[in-house]
Amino acid sequence: MSLLDFAMKRFGSAGTSSATCPVCGSKSSHPSAKIRQGQTLLCPKCKSMFVVPRKGD
Ligand SMILES: [Zn+2]
Repeated sequence: MSLLDFAMKRFGSAGTSSATCPVCGSKSSHPSAKIRQGQTLLCPKCKSMFVVPRKGD
């Protein structure tokens, strides 16, 4: 197993956080790593793609 695989698995098991869709205002759960890395999330309610702005920097 490579170091990258190891890191990915750690990120993958880091759990989920809730994110609020800016389009419909619906809260949904997404992987914490995706939110933290500023990756695009898909709202399960209105199917909009959105990014959660990073806080604190
Ligand atoms: Zn939405």
